Amino acid sequence: MQSNHAKPTSVPSPPQRILVTGGAGFIGTHLCTRLIEAGNEVLCVDNFYTGRRANIAHLLAHPLFEVLRHDICFPLYVEVDQIYNLACPASPIHYQFDPVQTTKVSVHGAINMLGLAKRIKARILQASTSEVYGDPQVSPQREDYWGHVNPIGPRSCYDEGKRCAETLFFDYHRQHKLAIKVARIFNTYGPGMLADDGRVVSNFVVQALRGEPLTLYGDGLQTRSFCYVDDLVEGLIRLMASDEDFTGPVNLGNPFEISMRDLAQTILRLTGSASKLVFMPLPTDDPRQRLPDIELARTKLGWQPSTTLDVGLSRTIAYFDALLAEG
Ligand code: NAD
Ligand code: UDP
Repeated sequence: MQSNHAKPTSVPSPPQRILVTGGAGFIGTHLCTRLIEAGNEVLCVDNFYTGRRANIAHLLAHPLFEVLRHDICFPLYVEVDQIYNLACPASPIHYQFDPVQTTKVSVHGAINMLGLAKRIKARILQASTSEVYGDPQVSPQREDYWGHVNPIGPRSCYDEGKRCAETLFFDYHRQHKLAIKVARIFNTYGPGMLADDGRVVSNFVVQALRGEPLTLYGDGLQTRSFCYVDDLVEGLIRLMASDEDFTGPVNLGNPFEISMRDLAQTILRLTGSASKLVFMPLPTDDPRQRLPDIELARTKLGWQPSTTLDVGLSRTIAYFDALLAEG
């Protein structure tokens, strides 16, 4: 069953000065917008590797918003109350393009942001990932599952980088009493993705709208669970606002599992496209299944997704339709 509950709302809190690394990326843009709308001051730090200035164009003139071009592999000295650490390419084609840099941003970037948080006594949230479970041998995945990860494959720069970042977060917490929050984000989609992002939802939607074949990797029977970006951002904000003693890691994702074949058929139905399916080789170490157990998020954060796949995909299709019409 897809979840279809009333949309939860964040607990209001006094305005904060908030640093969002990777703030010009897909999730970062939505997060910055929500934080600004709630009256917070937001400093977006991004090196524009996969992020775009155009993503944050609507925020640039806002008096509560500031943007700084900076690579978090280098130290940063700013004064804020909270840090959301999102900087890292998330699409496999982008994180595998320069894998050494992917590990660097995950590990050196985490060390720099944790060092900053320690110095200024800020609360810090890490955008971790379901990839820490690798190609999971249990389903659904709960936070106490240690994962099944190849340390030397093409996905390892991201998977192991993110695992090491989690280790650093928990060591700073134990060693320096830092207030940390770790979110394990499952596949997230929605308006604002780039047409050439390379992830499955944007690929299939753009292909369907252009009348091109939908590229199914492998047999298409591998599964993912897709969370609409507004739901995910709500979960991140709730996690940041949660009790000091709740560190996570906590899964944030939509527990509706679907195969890539069924995803393709759903997108064809919603777009009304006559595109065909074309089968292509499965990338190395592509996980067979991904399904979050979100009981911890439900109990600790009062959070669960409220956007069904059909609704989220329809909004995403409308966004790409307008984007492609612009040329
Ligand atoms: P994205 O690629 O759209 O955004 C990442 C942002 O980080 C970009 O703006 C990029 O320019 C910036 N960045 C990269 N390296 C940087 C560096 N060295 N210094 C400063 N900025 C840098 O990805 P996204 O989908 O928005 O993901 C955001 C975060 O959430 C990532 O950490 C990702 O690992 C995590 N996550 C995302 C998903 C998902 O499905 N979208 C799933 C799991 C985890
Ligand atoms: N995939 C696909 N066609 C595409 C892009 C991706 O079949 O054009 C598959 C991919 O092999 C994986 C799933 O879709 O099994 C999700 O891929 P994505 O790159 O979006 O994210 P991942 O969860 O693998 O990091």
